[in-house]
Amino acid sequence: MLVVRPFNFSAGPAALPDEVLSQVAEEMLDWQGSGMSVMEMSHRGREFISIYEAAEADLRDLLQVPSNFRILFMQGGGLGENAIVPLNLSRGGAVDVVVTGSWSKKSAGEAKRYADVRIAADAASSSPERRYLDIPAPSSWRLRPDAAYVHVCTNETIDGVEFQSLPDLRALGCDAPLVIDFSSHVVSRPVDWRKVGAAFAGAQKNIGPAGLTLVIVREDLLGRALPICPSAFDYKIVAEAESMYNTPPTFGIYVAGLVFQWLKRFAYAGRTGLAAIEQRNIDKAALLYATLDGSSLYENRVATPCRSRMNVPFFLRDERLNDAFLAGARERGLLQLKGHKSVGGMRASIYNAMPLEGVQALVSYLKDFETQHG
Ligand SMILES: *Cc1c(COP(=O)(O)O)cnc(C)c1O
Repeated sequence: MLVVRPFNFSAGPAALPDEVLSQVAEEMLDWQGSGMSVMEMSHRGREFISIYEAAEADLRDLLQVPSNFRILFMQGGGLGENAIVPLNLSRGGAVDVVVTGSWSKKSAGEAKRYADVRIAADAASSSPERRYLDIPAPSSWRLRPDAAYVHVCTNETIDGVEFQSLPDLRALGCDAPLVIDFSSHVVSRPVDWRKVGAAFAGAQKNIGPAGLTLVIVREDLLGRALPICPSAFDYKIVAEAESMYNTPPTFGIYVAGLVFQWLKRFAYAGRTGLAAIEQRNIDKAALLYATLDGSSLYENRVATPCRSRMNVPFFLRDERLNDAFLAGARERGLLQLKGHKSVGGMRASIYNAMPLEGVQALVSYLKDFETQHG
């Protein structure tokens, strides 16, 4: 069955690779001769355990996760982790948060309920319109020596701001572990685990269906949960039970596992795996930003060094054209380009599953629309 689908630029839940969805459809009623859908299997049965073990091993391999980190498949989403992280890691003490956009700001607000939060830096404080357009230099962050951890969001989905490399807290004289919210660029590029204590991601941007939350945490950080932390959200309990303390999001883990396999065999520009998808992401983003920068109708205001490869917000200089732009895009099979309500304008999310052809189609529409209206 060959289905031609439009290009979906949704920020999340977002597009998944066609091959993965086709395989899910094929296996829906009978997973590999088991006579069951994955949704109907016991999470403790040998069929599902094999799915879980493969997903864990493939992710560890893809992201080169060292053996002293545990991979947890949880629930609660990114916003759940905004509470679960301080419940597990703050010890009720000091938490420093670097605010580079809407998500890190939200994380700081939630952590305040459990810890003594201080904003180590706020990217909007230097912007006249209080927009998030840049990442403050790590050397300017006000980090406390007794911080239990430092939180950063490494890709700000709404504002389109991405860390191109992780801060080295130790080089800044800070021994606290770094916690990263990498929800919207997970498995799009490598992670330098030497700089990380814990990482979390909702699955629905780059990994699979909503409902699965990925946590990767260094072993020595387990066992610090506050007494009020729900057992099902205590990293140590979840780790000791191999993510089976309670029923994990089984179908989400299965789809994520297929995405990891798709990534492992992904080939592009003479590379394979994560290096290949990263290169395609670089090429897609470069094409789109070059088009925006070369135009007099569109603009992206984020500082060049921290522009996101995954989420590209842009504005039409004449905002009265917004509705016509979106309607024309839909006619061409370019879906969900409307920007987040807090920022306005447009946003193209070009996660791993977006092919180069999707960005090429968007670019040719941008140019045609500008010729008509510029
Ligand atoms: C989408 C997103 C979240 C929120 O995830 P939910 O699963 O909706 O709770 C958190 N952080 C970032 C960076 C995101 O992009």
